[in-house]
Amino acid sequence: MKFGGSSLADAAQVRKVGEIVKARRPSRPVVVCSAHKGITDALIVAAHRAATGDVSASEIVDKQRRIVADLDGDDALLSGLYKDLEDVLRGISLVREVSPRVLDFVQSFGERMSVRAVAHHLNRAEVRAEAFDAFDLGFITDAAFNEARPIEGYEARMRVAFADRVPEDTVPVITGFVGKTEDGAITTVGRNGSDFTASCFAAGLGAEECQIWTDTDGVMTADPRVVESARNIPAMSFAEAGELARYGGRVLHPSTLVPAVKADIPVRVLNTNRPQHPGTVITRAGRDNPDAFTSIAYKENQTVMTIESEGMLGQYGFLARVFDVVAKHEVDIDMVSTSEISVSMTTEGRRDLAPLVAALEPHGTVTVAGNKSLVCVVGRRIRSQTGVAAQVFTALANAGVNVEMISHGANNINLSLVVDDRQINAAVGSLHRALFG
Ligand code: ASP
Ligand code: MG
Repeated sequence: MKFGGSSLADAAQVRKVGEIVKARRPSRPVVVCSAHKGITDALIVAAHRAATGDVSASEIVDKQRRIVADLDGDDALLSGLYKDLEDVLRGISLVREVSPRVLDFVQSFGERMSVRAVAHHLNRAEVRAEAFDAFDLGFITDAAFNEARPIEGYEARMRVAFADRVPEDTVPVITGFVGKTEDGAITTVGRNGSDFTASCFAAGLGAEECQIWTDTDGVMTADPRVVESARNIPAMSFAEAGELARYGGRVLHPSTLVPAVKADIPVRVLNTNRPQHPGTVITRAGRDNPDAFTSIAYKENQTVMTIESEGMLGQYGFLARVFDVVAKHEVDIDMVSTSEISVSMTTEGRRDLAPLVAALEPHGTVTVAGNKSLVCVVGRRIRSQTGVAAQVFTALANAGVNVEMISHGANNINLSLVVDDRQINAAVGSLHRALFG
């Protein structure tokens, strides 16, 4: 059972989580927690501020302290961590630099504090519980700070650690997001990565299912903050969920499914604020959805890069050369579309593409356009059903949205488009009305 930041936003939310865990006590839950909402962001800001000489942990400490106090918890519970955090920030202010390694260390405080607060509350609520740092239960990672991955054999390591350290009658409350290298440096698996941690533990322990507790009724047909009439999707396949996560669906971290798919463990997305709702169950087979469409996902602030070259005409090897350069620059591409003489691709807008563009220039004329949104329509019948593309493009035309790039995923379950960031709400709203009624 993984509880995200919004599920743990304040004492009232933590109490809800307590009730949910208590009710499921007989199935021997393993709990994985994110930091309380806003804490990770605040830690990152504090680390960067410290590098300019401005040391302040008080906002974070006050917020954490208030949650513990509102839970009638012991104020001394986290005092060691508060002091460590202040010390680390002071250290950063002295060296005036935050390396990825130090940033991971700073970010780890969020989860290390929240699991202790949650376990403390569970014990008060008469559920025997104990807080654990994931790395003490086998979550040992490589040294790729900010995007660490568990090293091979983690499943067996988790099982041994559990047998050694977790008493049968105790609910372990484990840090999401945080790991440690074999040499003892604290790592994180990347923003919103607690889902991934949970899925790794589910795979390692052979869980019955991996539950992701969040603030919507499972996975929805569109982001409910943008589309009011968005509704729950009761079931879907790993493939559909994977496309949605990768193309901007807010509910699951894109890596979450990898360990679950490998171990063939169902992932269920549930609502902490409405625990009786069955949510969405994601399995290998999914369900035979009678609708052509499952859901719409989108991500803003993407960049489209186009390489145009007459040399591509009648040539082989052009794409191989282009993508070789892209790979060497470790730029992650989401969507690709080609013509006889050009290839366009999208990537995250935050990334500085100047070095890649320079390296591609010998291969053709490169243009870069930012502030684009990637919209992805996922559905298992997109290919087989007549008129599906017409429905999508008519909806966009009716909303006055210009489509700048199109790609129909080779796995046949996604149709992706690029539109301008400024048109994203109009695009998603109109698509949802047309495709989901
Ligand atoms: N606390 C981390 C973050 O905000 C991890 C997570 O929430 O899953 O990114
Ligand atoms: Mg999250």
